[in-house]
Formats: sequence, C-alpha cells, structure tokens
Amino acid sequence: MLEIRDLTVFYGLHAAIRNVSLQVAPGEIVVVLGANGAGKSTLLRATMGMVRPASGHVLLDGLDLTSLVRRNLTAQVVEQGLVLVPERGGTFTDLTVRENLLLGAFPRRARAREQELMEFALSLFPRLKERWNQRVGTMSGGEQRMVAVARALLSAPRFLLLDEPTLGLAPVLAKQLLRVLPQIAAEGIGVLLVEQNAHLSLAVAQRGAVLSNGELVHAASAAELRDDPVVRAAYLGTQ
Ligand code: ATP
Repeated sequence: MLEIRDLTVFYGLHAAIRNVSLQVAPGEIVVVLGANGAGKSTLLRATMGMVRPASGHVLLDGLDLTSLVRRNLTAQVVEQGLVLVPERGGTFTDLTVRENLLLGAFPRRARAREQELMEFALSLFPRLKERWNQRVGTMSGGEQRMVAVARALLSAPRFLLLDEPTLGLAPVLAKQLLRVLPQIAAEGIGVLLVEQNAHLSLAVAQRGAVLSNGELVHAASAAELRDDPVVRAAYLGTQ
C-alpha cells in the first residue's frame, strides 16, 4: 500500500498542496484530477522526494519513506519501489529506445529481472521493438510517452506515478496510452495518475479525487466521480 498522509508543500509563502492524504493499493489505479496549477505535479514530486514537503508522511507497505523524501533522496525512493514518469520528460532524448530502457533498470531489485521486465514493457508497447535503435528525441510525442512509461517499468516499481501522460497527445493516442494501465495494474503494480483528462482517466481508474487549489476534495469511486455534478461541470464539459 502507498500511503500519502497530510502532505503539505510550500513554495515560499504559497502552499502548493495542503494536507493531502491519499492511498493506493497494489494493483489499483487511482486518478487525481485537477486544473492547471492545482498542485498535481507538486503532489507527485513531493511523494518522490523531488521537492521537500514541509510536513506529512509517505509510507510504502508500512515502511516510512518520509526521511528519504525530506532529504530529497529520490534515487533511494526508487530503490524502495516508487517511480515517477514526469510531465513530458522521463527520457534521455539523445539516447536510443534500447539505451533508455536499459538505464531504467538501475535499482538493485530490477537488475536481476531485467530480461523479464523488458519483455513485459515491450509486450505493452510493441511499437518500441520496431524503434529499438532510434534516438528518442526523433520520435513522435506519443512514442516518447511510451518510452517514458516503459523505462519506468524497467525499474520494477511497486507503484507507478504518472504526471499527465496524455498531455499534448491526440485523443486516439491518449486513449491507447491509458489502455495499458490496467495491464500494468494486473501485475500488482499500483498506479497513481494525475490528469486533466477526466473522460479517459476515469474510464481506467477505480478511484479518484479532485485536487483544487492544493486541497483534495471529492474523493470517491471513479463511477461516482463520473456522475458528480461538480466534476462533470469542471472536467467533463457537461452539466
Ligand atoms: P499543471 O497542470 O499546470 O502542470 P499542476 O496541477 O501540476 O499544474 P503544480 O505544477 O504542482 O500544479 O503547481 C502548483 C502551484 O505551485 C502553481 O501555482 C505553481 O505556479 C506553483 N509552483 C510550482 N512549482 C513551483 C516552484 N518551483 N516554485 C514556485 N512555485 C511553484
């Protein structure tokens, strides 16, 4: 279980997130919806120790990662089994697909399982096999997202954090990308997704919540959120 408890992050005097609590079970897909600037990236970055929370805790299967998080020891957080696919980034654009994926397998746990992890990632994204020796910087936006997710999977995560993976993708490509999430969850990996695209993300998630001005509101099942009038008005473009 990934447990985020009462996480608060300040940038100067501004609280980007305030007392955010959230749990993700192994094999579960949870989406956090929120508008631009709501604090979605900050939530994921603070969970990984990439920004320092002012207060709060991060626990992974009962193990308290808070001291790693507060000291910005992100590589050690990855060793423990969390990985983040950042918004737009998460690849080395000068390197090939093959090199990117191999570099993903840096945690000790992952190295022993490299072959198996590689086969799993390529089964999700067979296109990457065709582009094996292509430099990632020359690939389309959708293909680059595939590389970023595949690379994260090579780290043998127990929980995969995704920051707006569909940003800038045409609807058909966004749908294709999110369609792999249930297959990832079926391996027992918990998925925490932040998105502005409520239509697509609520279709694959079991649970969700809305982040508004740094605070979590409307935590519910994905089905309930789809029917919630506030969510419908703000994120689904309907009344
Ligand atoms: P988007 O969907 O636009 O990426 P978001 O929901 O991911 O937005 P964050 O990027 O977490 O939101 O930003 C939350 C707030 O914190 C915003 O007001 C943003 O301007 C501010 N912020 C983010 N990073 C920093 C930073 N390094 N220094 C100062 N303020 C920041």
